[in-house]
Amino acid sequence: MSARILIVDDVPANVKLLEARLSAEYFDVITANCGTQALEICERAECDIILLDVMMPDIDGFEVCRRLKSNPKTHFIPVVMVTALDSPSDRVRGLDAGADDFLTKPVSDVVLIARVRSLTRLKMMTDELRMRAITSLEIGVQAPERDAVADTGKGGRILLIEDRPSSYERLGPILAAEHTVDVEPNPTEALFHAAEGNYDLLIVSLNLENHDGLRLCSQARSLERTRSVPILAISDADNHTQLLRGMEIGVNDYLLRPVDKNELLARARTQIRRRRYTDHLRDNVQSSIEMAITDGLTGLHNRRYLESHMVALAEQAVTRGKPLALMILDIDHFKSINDTYGHDAGDDVLREFAVRIRKSVRGIDLAARYGGEEFVVVMPETDLHVAGIVAERLRQAVASEPFAIEKGARRIDVTMSIGLSMLERKGESIADALKRADQALYRAKHAGRNRVVAAAA
Ligand code: GH3
Ligand code: MG
Ligand code: MG
Repeated sequence: MSARILIVDDVPANVKLLEARLSAEYFDVITANCGTQALEICERAECDIILLDVMMPDIDGFEVCRRLKSNPKTHFIPVVMVTALDSPSDRVRGLDAGADDFLTKPVSDVVLIARVRSLTRLKMMTDELRMRAITSLEIGVQAPERDAVADTGKGGRILLIEDRPSSYERLGPILAAEHTVDVEPNPTEALFHAAEGNYDLLIVSLNLENHDGLRLCSQARSLERTRSVPILAISDADNHTQLLRGMEIGVNDYLLRPVDKNELLARARTQIRRRRYTDHLRDNVQSSIEMAITDGLTGLHNRRYLESHMVALAEQAVTRGKPLALMILDIDHFKSINDTYGHDAGDDVLREFAVRIRKSVRGIDLAARYGGEEFVVVMPETDLHVAGIVAERLRQAVASEPFAIEKGARRIDVTMSIGLSMLERKGESIADALKRADQALYRAKHAGRNRVVAAAA
C-alpha cells in the first residue's frame, strides 16, 4: 500500500533527506518549500499525508496545520509536524493545532516509516468512506464535514488499561477532566470490558506486570467490536522495536513516560475526534446506501448511485494517475428466459446473478444494476490486463453453474456478455468510457454472446 506524501520544509537539505527515505520505501513524494505552496497543494487534494516543518519564513507550521484542519476541504489529511524543538509544550501546540502526530529532528527511520504507514492505512479508509458519503450528499443525505471540523474531541468514553496504581491514580483524574474514564487494572478482563463498553478510545499500558500489552492491542484489533476503536499506547521507554510492532498491529498513537498531562489530553482528543468522524461517515454511508441508492430486487447499487459515484471514482483515478476499468454485463437472451419460464423465474435469475457478481469482485469495486438485465462494475486501480481476467472470471461464474428457478425445482443455463473499457484517454468523461464499454458489449453480442470484448483505447 502506497501513498503520496507531501514534504514541506524551507531547508532543501531537510526535504532531500526525508524524500530519499520515503522514496526508498516506495512512497510517492512531492515537496513544497513554504506554507503557502503547501496549502495550495492540499486544496487541490494532491497528497495523502503531510510532513510539515514548524519553522518556516512565510507561514509557520502551526498556522498551516490550523488552516488545513479548519477547512472542510482539507481537514481529513493527516498532518505530521516535523520539528527540531523537542519540548512537550511544542508538541502540544502542534496537537492543539490539530496535527495528527509529531516527529523530532533528526528523524528516526523506524518511527518515520511506522508513522507514515499507519497514517496511510487510516487515510485510505477515510478516503473511501468520505467519497461514498459525498456521493450520498449529492443524493440528498447530510455530509459529516461540518460537524467534524467543529468537534472538540472532549466528552469521550475512555477505557484506561493499566495495572499500576501509581500510574492510573495519576492519569485517571487528568483524563476525567474532559472525558468519562473507566480504569481496568486487570489485563485479562480488559478485552471483555473493552468489547462491552462502547468506548471511543482505549489507552493501553505496554508495561503491564504479567501481561503482554502488545498482545492485548492486537487482540483488540482482531475483535469485531473493538476493531475500530482507536488505541493510544503508553510505553516506559523509547523502545523502537516495541513501538514499531505496535504500529504494525494497529496502535494509533503512543505516549512515553513520564506522561505529560497536556500531551495526554491533546492526543486523546485527536483520537476521539478522528473516531467520531469515521463513525459519522460510516453511519452516513450505511443509512444512505440502505435508502435511496439500492436496487430493491438485487440489493446492488442502483443506476442513480452508480452515475454519481462513478464520477467521483473517475476524478480520483485522474488525480492519482491510476487506471480505472469499467464493464457492462448483459444477460444473454434474457427475454426468452422470461418468455419461457415466467417473470418470477427471470427475477430469480437476476437475484442470483447479482450474488455471483458480488462474490467475484473486490470490496472497493462498485457493482450496480444499470437497467433491466444490465449491470455495471467499476474497478479502481485496475489495468486492462487484470480487468480482462476479472471479466472472464465473472463470465465463468455465471456460465459454469446453472441457475435455480421455481424454488429450486428447475435449473437453467444462463450466460452473459461483457463489454470492457478503460478510462484512459486524457480528458475523457466516464460517461464516454461507459459508452465505449457499451459498444464493446454490442460487439460481444454480435460475435455470438457468452464472451468478453474489450473496447479499443
Ligand atoms: P441479448 O442477448 O441481446 O441481451 O437479449 P436479451 O433478451 O437479454 O435482451 P433484451 O434487451 O431484448 O431483453 C431484456 C429483457 O429483460 C426484456 C425485459 O422484459 C426483461 N426485464 C427487464 N427488467 C426485468 C426485471 O426486473 N425482471 C424480469 N423478470 N425481467 C426483466
Ligand atoms: Mg439488454
Ligand atoms: Mg440481455
